[in-house]
Amino acid sequence: MNAKKQPVILNGLPVAESLKEPLFSSIEKLASRGIVPCLATILVGDDPSSATYVKMKGNACRRLGIDSKRITLDTSTSTAALIAVIEQLNNDPSIHGILLQHPVPPHIDERAAFEAISIDKDVDGVTMMGFAQNAFGAAPYPSCTPAAILAILDYYQLKVEGKHAVVIGRSPILGKPVSLMLLNRNATVTICHSKTENLSDIVRSGDIVVAAVGRAKFVKAGWIKPGAVILDAGYNAGNVGDVDYAECEPIAGAITPVPSGVGPVTIAALLKHTVEAAERLSMAR
Ligand code: NAP
Repeated sequence: MNAKKQPVILNGLPVAESLKEPLFSSIEKLASRGIVPCLATILVGDDPSSATYVKMKGNACRRLGIDSKRITLDTSTSTAALIAVIEQLNNDPSIHGILLQHPVPPHIDERAAFEAISIDKDVDGVTMMGFAQNAFGAAPYPSCTPAAILAILDYYQLKVEGKHAVVIGRSPILGKPVSLMLLNRNATVTICHSKTENLSDIVRSGDIVVAAVGRAKFVKAGWIKPGAVILDAGYNAGNVGDVDYAECEPIAGAITPVPSGVGPVTIAALLKHTVEAAERLSMAR
């Protein structure tokens, strides 16, 4: 009798460790030159999920021996005032990476604020220049969640080349950059969004499915091709992903859990980029 093949659970924790491990010696070398990598995080407003993300990023920095500077701005902050803060950080030699937590309150021009971040300190690949570098496969700091998704595929030696990857979501920090990264790795990529017709049929044709929607348990079992690799970038209230894990796990060939899937690898990518930015900026000086 053929036993049913168990899906591979793509635990993000060992992937995150594999990204962080080489950073210790880099941090030591920088310390010997009197440099401590420092990530500045900017939180505008009081969204509790955003506050949690920023806190987690600061804690992760501390655990690794990286400094973090947390800037919290009032909800009523104007675009001009936010840009002025970013410019100060651009000009501060003790800061190596700048992370503006998305989303900002709706009255702020988020794109203008992202564009104010110096390309040398754009450790989350949010600027147009960072995005373009990523599109050409030449980004020193690709967006962290897309980088995390590729790191998971690589760590678990899952084939990308020639596969049909279906990405649900087209945000500039997640859906679009991860689609380009998969394309650069020779996947055939379909990008879906809120206006996509026959979404479930398209997802069912995917060998690799990336869920980046922001809706809890959105992807259902009937949408999944048996044996598909599922990467769930979603992180919704109650620690729930964008994929209905209980339904999809038995059908998938491999699947990221939520939590402990893409999230910790995203943070590890951010730490890696910050240390690398400190190395590059200190060489340039
Ligand atoms: P976003 O900016 O809100 O983008 C969501 C995307 O989903 C949009 O492109 C939207 O399409 C699409 N969408 C919405 N409803 C849809 C539907 N019914 N059918 C198909 N597509 C639909 O969100 P985001 O920043 O990319 O984040 C997506 C998810 O990832 C969220 O759960 C977020 O919390 C999570 N996230 C996780 C990490 C991590 O470290 N794990 C990091 C960042 C984000 P339109 O473009 O047509 O509106």
